Formats: sequence, structure tokens, C-alpha cells
Amino acid sequence: MSRTGVANPPTHADPDPRFPFPHNPTPTRCQTEPATFDFAHGDSSGETRAVREKRLARAHRACSGCPIVKDCLKWALVNQPLTKVGIFAATTPSQRTALRKRMVDRLGPDWIDVLADQDRARRERAAAARHTPLTVNQARIIRLDREINGPMPQPLTPAQQQRNMARLMAGLKAA
Ligand code: SF4
Repeated sequence: MSRTGVANPPTHADPDPRFPFPHNPTPTRCQTEPATFDFAHGDSSGETRAVREKRLARAHRACSGCPIVKDCLKWALVNQPLTKVGIFAATTPSQRTALRKRMVDRLGPDWIDVLADQDRARRERAAAARHTPLTVNQARIIRLDREINGPMPQPLTPAQQQRNMARLMAGLKAA
């Protein structure tokens, strides 16, 4: 599938199934205005440099505010054969090439496998957490915390944390 949601013609490369393109509940800007994200070296499609730069700046702004930008970048990096052209996650093809080199430096030549393993471990931890029910005491502490302290402001200062803990302990004793 392309990022416009339309099936691509068969290509010599398929997306890496370990990294599905991130889902967003509403269409992203690259889906609603794909022409803005077109970018290929040496192909300005007849538009002036100024017009092109303005268009690319618009694509960069759209990506910067996109809720799935992080996973989009990962998808674009691991699927190099499918992202030789175009703006993905506010990066041009040459910027992605540079980022891939950095990934090799950081994680080694098998960096894609390393990322896939990290993702799988993260999913397994999340699944385990979902399936491990809270103990009676943990549930009681959480309920009391909500009753006594209300919604938690972010971020808590150390003094607030200490005060909340004292109130929680007092509540537990009284319960
Ligand atoms: S980050 Fe940019 S290219 Fe990626 S899905 Fe969002 S709008 Fe599209």
C-alpha cells in the first residue's frame, strides 16, 4: 500500500512486515495532499525553485505536526527501496540516507533487525502488562490515590510527591 492508502503496482520490494505503516485515525496531510510531499533529486517538474522550496517547507511543517511522525520516520528508514523519493517525516531522501548511516554506527549493520527486536520486546512487555491484573492492594492504592489526590498534575515536584505520599499513607491507615 502507498501512504495514500491506494494499492501500489507490484514493485521489486515489499514493505518490511515487521514495521507496518503507522495507523492514524484521521487522514494525514501526505494522504490528503500527496503532491506537496513529492521530492526527487533533479526533478523539479517544471516548478521554479522558489515555488518548490515553499511547497517543501509546507510538507516539513505538516510532518512536524503529524501525530505519527516518529513511526513514519522509522517506516521510511527501514523501507529504503520504497522511500527513494518523497518527503517522509520531514526528511528528504538524502537526509534519510544520512540517518541510516547513523543507525549503522549506533546499532551495527543489522540495525533493522535490532529495531525489530526492540519493537517486539516492547509489544510483549505491553501485552504482559495488559494481562497481568492488579493485585487487590495495588488496585486499592490507586483508588485511594485518586480519591485523595484527584487527577495528577504533571510534572509533580519532589515536595508534591512527598505530600501526596503522606496523604496516601494516612488514607490507607484510615481505610
Ligand atoms: S509524518 Fe509526514 S509523511 Fe509521515 S505520515 Fe505524517 S504527514 Fe505523512
